[in-house]
Amino acid sequence: MNCSDVDRVIDPYCDSELGTTEAGDVRAHLDVCPACQQRVAARESLGRLIRLVPYYQAPDRLRVAVATARPPSRFALRWAGRPVRVSPRILAWAATVALAVSLGGGTVIRVIRTRHTDAATAAVAQDVVAGHVRALTGDHLFDVRSTDQHTVKPWFLGKLDFSPPVVDLAPLGFPLVGGRLDHLAGRPVAALVYQRRQHPINLFVWPAADTGEAAADTREIRGFQVQHWTHDGMAFWAVSDLNRTELDQFVHALSQ
Ligand SMILES: [Zn+2]
Repeated sequence: MNCSDVDRVIDPYCDSELGTTEAGDVRAHLDVCPACQQRVAARESLGRLIRLVPYYQAPDRLRVAVATARPPSRFALRWAGRPVRVSPRILAWAATVALAVSLGGGTVIRVIRTRHTDAATAAVAQDVVAGHVRALTGDHLFDVRSTDQHTVKPWFLGKLDFSPPVVDLAPLGFPLVGGRLDHLAGRPVAALVYQRRQHPINLFVWPAADTGEAAADTREIRGFQVQHWTHDGMAFWAVSDLNRTELDQFVHALSQ
């Protein structure tokens, strides 16, 4: 394998897409060719930079445009007055890097997004406590009053565009006592009501905005314990005037 052979397979080599034999041939050449070593190193550091850039879902219109565009073969660029061949894949990467740099770098974007999410979560937590208090003081805790999960779960059918998971936790000390429709975070949600001694627990459930799993986030607001987590594509918010240990036990019981 010579330098132009390496040049031809540098993309698949760096993406670990070459067969064992061909990859071995490239490595053998790299051992004796500092110029190719340097090109591979540059290509790999570009790859690492790309992996730091956060991904965004392309709008459908853009995806259709990309899918139906005629694939260019190779672009002729000029570098220091001499023509340079650049593969479309490298161009696509370079465009992504240029985008990341023009937006101020991936880390900055991530920090801004995290702060934004934190603020949004805090606002929902306030909403959750308000919903809990409203249900208790407005005397509208139940639309369906039952300790039977097979009565409560079907009650939501046709009233929401999702089906909340409903489990009875009576054997674990948190009997299900009913449910109702509620409105939180700008959307209709399922409210399941559980009880521990004389303390009601509201468990609000709705489809999560992103499908990743998240561990419980605990906070105390105006004397109420609030826990939030996501599981199986659903966002869960538990709120009660129980102490933190007992609400922890409830959340634990739910995830068993
Ligand atoms: Zn070489």
